[in-house]
Amino acid sequence: MGNDPAKVVKVIKENRDITSLYIEGYDEAFTRRRAGSFLTLKIMQDDGWSEAHPFTISCAPEDPQLRVTIKRLGEFTTRVHSLEPGAPVMVAGPYGLFCKDIDANEYIVMIAGGVGITPFLSVLRHFRNIRAKNRILLIWSNKGLEEAFALDELKAMTKDIPLKIVHNLSREPEGADMARYADEAFPDVVYESGRCTRHLMKKHIDLSAKPAVYLCGPPPMQDFVIGELEAIGIDPKSIKKESFTWKGAK
Ligand SMILES: Cc1cc2nc3c(=O)[nH]c(=O)nc-3n(C[C@H](O)[C@H](O)[C@H](O)COP(=O)(O)OP(=O)(O)OC[C@H]3O[C@@H](n4cnc5c(N)ncnc54)[C@H](O)[C@@H]3O)c2cc1C
Repeated sequence: MGNDPAKVVKVIKENRDITSLYIEGYDEAFTRRRAGSFLTLKIMQDDGWSEAHPFTISCAPEDPQLRVTIKRLGEFTTRVHSLEPGAPVMVAGPYGLFCKDIDANEYIVMIAGGVGITPFLSVLRHFRNIRAKNRILLIWSNKGLEEAFALDELKAMTKDIPLKIVHNLSREPEGADMARYADEAFPDVVYESGRCTRHLMKKHIDLSAKPAVYLCGPPPMQDFVIGELEAIGIDPKSIKKESFTWKGAK
């Protein structure tokens, strides 16, 4: 970690529990980051710098500011949500290899649970910026659409790159009328109810196209999805995973 603090320059409330911080004044090592890498963040408290917590850099690697998109869960993330522009922070990184070489795959399947979308947002923002040709299916599971964010940006991306998005809204009962969510201007954004089951995935994943599968979400969701993917013939060992599990630095 560098000795000089960086600075929060912008704060965007993505939804009730998710906030993005834009950070400037970081170490030049971050200019060599890859899409989907993460940093560790310390904030200033009454008794000095906090412990460091990991967060994915949710913007594209070519973006001039660092952006982190943080869900309020416990003490630290609740304090993060009250930061304002000008707040000093310490950032270290970039770390992580989750999406390393993701661009080498012709057909990519991204499966995200909740805020586990952040590494994929970074990759998609990069792919959009460079007009990548890779074919992508994003399956994003949330309890309801109000827990999602960046919805308009993602919709627009389906016009810029070969991207199809499945919003899996788990609180909607099986058989619910999901057509009410659809927007005919964006036919590549579709909505599915219930859990992220083998049936849902078989319906949307082109299994004949040898998908490279990337998964990021809470551990129980990951375990369930891996079992369902195995049931449709995807080798669990081939799935690339990032877990956001953070038990603290104690
Ligand atoms: C590589 C990596 C990348 C990450 N990227 C992001 C990101 O982009 N955005 C983001 O919001 N978070 C991300 N996280 C998770 C984030 O670091 C933690 O949620 C945060 O540090 C928790 O701090 P806290 O003090 O607020 O919560 P704690 O006090 O540590 O936890 C509060 C409560 O939430 C539970 N909890 C903690 N973390 C999780 C979790 N991930 N899922 C479910 N329950 C949890 C705890 O068991 C506890 O009950 C990432 C973690 C890792 C390891």
